[in-house]
Parts: sequence; C-alpha cells; structure tokens
Amino acid sequence: MTKKTKRPLPAGSGAEDPIRDRNLLRTILETIPDKLYFKDAGSRFVRNSRAHAKSFGVDDPADLVGKTDFDFFSEEHAGQAFEDEQRIIRTGEPLIGIEEKETWPDGRVTWVSTTKMPLRDEKGEIVGTFGISRDITAQKEAELALSRERNLLHALLDTIPDHIYFKDAESRFVRNSRAHVKSFGVDDPADLVGKTDFDFFSDEHAGQAFEDEQRIIRTGEPLIGIEEKETWPDGRVTWASSTKMPLKDEKGEVVGTFGISRDITRQKEIELEAKNLTAALKRSNQELEEFASVASHDLQEPLRMISGYLNLIVRRYQDRLDQDGREFIAFAVDGAQRMQVMIDDLLSYSRVTTQGKAFSLIETEAVLGRALLNLKVAVDEAGARVIHEAMPAVMGDERQIERLFQNLIGNGLKYRRPGDVPDIHVSAQKKDSEWVFGIKDNGIGIDPKYFDRIFGIFQRLHTREQYSGTGIGLAICKKTVERHGGRIWVESEEGTGATFYFTLPAGLEPSKRPAP
Ligand code: ADP
Repeated sequence: MTKKTKRPLPAGSGAEDPIRDRNLLRTILETIPDKLYFKDAGSRFVRNSRAHAKSFGVDDPADLVGKTDFDFFSEEHAGQAFEDEQRIIRTGEPLIGIEEKETWPDGRVTWVSTTKMPLRDEKGEIVGTFGISRDITAQKEAELALSRERNLLHALLDTIPDHIYFKDAESRFVRNSRAHVKSFGVDDPADLVGKTDFDFFSDEHAGQAFEDEQRIIRTGEPLIGIEEKETWPDGRVTWASSTKMPLKDEKGEVVGTFGISRDITRQKEIELEAKNLTAALKRSNQELEEFASVASHDLQEPLRMISGYLNLIVRRYQDRLDQDGREFIAFAVDGAQRMQVMIDDLLSYSRVTTQGKAFSLIETEAVLGRALLNLKVAVDEAGARVIHEAMPAVMGDERQIERLFQNLIGNGLKYRRPGDVPDIHVSAQKKDSEWVFGIKDNGIGIDPKYFDRIFGIFQRLHTREQYSGTGIGLAICKKTVERHGGRIWVESEEGTGATFYFTLPAGLEPSKRPAP
C-alpha cells in the first residue's frame, strides 16, 4: 500500500487542473536559479523568473514587464538577442544551448548558456519567444584562463632559447621547445614526437640520460642543475646544464619527465682555456723562480771573487794607486755592491714560495718595529717621520711580513721629491676576517697607468740615475701577500704621494687566543 502511494501519478492526472498548472509555473519562476523569461513578438518581457529580475538589479519581476534587453544591456548584446528572437518568430526554429556574451553598459561582461524557443498561443500561432539561460561566467573565465595559459606555454616553447622537453614513461619525446627541436636538425616539432635520445646521441650519452630519467620516475626525485656531456654520433661533444623533473598527471601519478637544459659548451670551453692558462702561468712562474734561484747562486760565486780581489787590491796596493786608480776601484766596488743587492733580491724572490709555510699568530706591532730598525739609517739620513696606528695580530710568516713592511716603507723613503722630508703613515683597519694595511707616503706618486705593471719583476719606472733600485721589491711583496691569501694594490695620483694597501688574514682576538 505504502509503496503504491509513493509512485508518481500516472501521466495526465491533474494536468488539466488550471490552478495547479499556474502554481507550478509560479513556483518555477520564483525559485529556479536560472533566468527564465517570456517575451512578446516585440521582444518585450511578459513574465520573468525572480533570478532573472535580480540579475538586472530589479526586485519585483512585475517591474520588468514591458521592458526589453535594450533597457539593461549594451546595444551590441541587446541588438543580437533581438535579431535572434525575431528569426525564431519568423522561422519557428529554436536556438538550443547557444553561448551568449552579455556586455553591460558599464563594460562588465558575463556569459550565459541559452536556449530560446518560439512561444505559441492555443491556436499554435507564434506570439513571442521564451528562453532559459544559465550563468556560465565562472566556467567561461576558467576556460579563457586555461587557453591563455596554453597560449603562454606555446609562446614559451616557441621562443625560449633553452631546450625544454616533455617525455613519457619510456623517455620518448612528447613535446619540445622549438630550440630543442632545431638542435637535433629537425624542422617540425611533430617529427620529434615518439623519438628518443637514442635516435640522436651516442649510446653512451643517451643511455645515461635514460637511466637518469627512469630513476626520476621511480623515485620522484628531480635532478637539478646537472652538467651533461652530450656526445653525438659524429664524435662531436657539447655540454648542457640540465634540470629534470618528474611529470605528474592530474592524480599526481608520475607519468614521465620534463626537463630544461641550456647549452654551456662555450662556457665549458672558456673554463678549460682558463684552466690551461692558469697551469701555463704556474709553470712560467716556477720557471722564473727557478731562474732567479739558479742565477743568483751562479752569480754569487764570481761576485764573491770580484769583491774579494777588489778588497785585496785596495788593501795591498792602496798607496801605489793614483787618484784616478782609486776612483776606478771605487766605481768597481759600487758596482759589485749593487750586484749583491740584486742577487739578494733575486734570492728572496725565489724563496718566498720555496720556503715552507711557517704561518703563526704574529704581532705586527713588533714586526713593524724590527722593519723600522732595519731602515734606521735611511730614516735618519732623510730626517723622515714615520708614524703608525695600533697594529693588530695576524696569521703569517714573521720574516716575510717584516720584509714586506721594510720594502714598502723603504720605497716610501726612496721615492721622494729631491729636498722633501718623507712623511710616512702606516695604518691598519679590520674588514670582515682580514686586516687592510696601508702605507701612505708623500713622495713622487705613481701614474695610474702603471698600477699593475709595478708589481711585476724588473719593472722600474725611473732610471738608475734618478732612483737606485732593482725592480724586484714589489714583485716580492705581491708574492708574499698572495701567499698569505691576501691582495696588494696601490692608490695614487702622480705627484701627490702613493698609498700601498695589502690585506692579511686576521689572527684570533686576544680573548680567544689559547693561553701561552
Ligand atoms: P725598485 O727596486 O725599483 O724600488 P720596486 O719593485 O720596489 O723596485 O718598485 C717598482 C717601481 O715602482 C719602482 O721602480 C718605482 O718606479 C715605483 N714605486 C715603487 N714604490 C713607489 C712609491 N712609494 N712611490 C713612487 N713610486 C714607487
């Protein structure tokens, strides 16, 4: 019994009831969320669903009666709807599921999916239209966003100079950027689909790439920024920097891989050239040091003989020499002494790197004091003023740092204008984990175009008549500083004095030093 009452009423039962019909229509018009409307032959509203009235900002659907689309929409949209409806009235043909773009006077755009039918009276004559439309703006916007995204992807793949590729689970190409397609000598991207690295590269490289991709698929772990050596069948080698990622479907399952790689062949070549150059430079430096070492030792012996016999001559034959003779001997002694300085400098130059590293914590205050003591004669002779700031502790080789100060301050004394009193200021400033030392003089200065050159071996800017020197001092300084992991440079404007700067690694703060 109960079952029977729940069954739907047989067709036709109650359909003749006019009150019921009207109720049903009213219920639909009041509650349906779609826009439902009846229009007369002039496309004027006759009845509208409440949702439809609301979409026009009107509360009571009755207020819409007699109005048309032209009262609400832009001319463009209202005109199109009017034409559609007039055609339906003329032909009796409905419009089913068309998508309408609704432009509003304020420029806003909405989208509806609409079905419009002819409205007939009891005699079957067409007296207007009725329609139902559903808002599909959100769906349409999502579609538009998707197609915009697709366009972006296409633009990216077409123009990016990098190689972008999507591969399936068997490492077959699915999509490739145009640049990638071209790198294989292929014109049409479609020709690459289904192919693999094995079709283009040597087995060695293709095999490695395949293994990498299979591991990514198995583990889901990407490979980021790896360098790939690409060997081609003709033996050619190129290099790429690649990132490969797992390609997932909507459910998050890994269905392949995608990657982006950039040709770094030129960069690799430059790296290799630089490596070769550095090695060559190191070799030539070693040769230079060897030369300096051998030459100084080989020169030392004959020079000792020259000096020895000169001494002997002076001592034994002093009385028998006339004025000229004594002068000639004095010139020879002076020459021998200059040669000794040169040999000593060459020896120091070759020793800077051949001596073992004996770095320890050193107090530069004491080291500087010793350097100044060595220079005492020159300082006093010139009446020079040398002042210095508080000096820190650094890590280094004590003897070499002493010579570094001595060379630089010595130059400051030497390269002064005739008649000037040298004024030298030694500064020390902490910068991060190193100390920057400065030795500032008031001498003749250096033309900036020689800033690099003067640190080379045998680079002298003046004749020996003007300033004596071997041209090795600054080369030794540079080697010493670089061996300590520091840098050396000079600042000067010609004629306004020069400041030589060098850096040394900072020692530990007094509080952090181990107790002696
Ligand atoms: P040198 O034995 O000739 O002094 P260095 O290697 O010490 O050799 O210096 C190289 C050249 O740099 C010098 O010949 C000189 O021309 C220039 N120079 C070095 N120090 C100074 C300075 N403090 N002021 C001006 N010129 C300098």
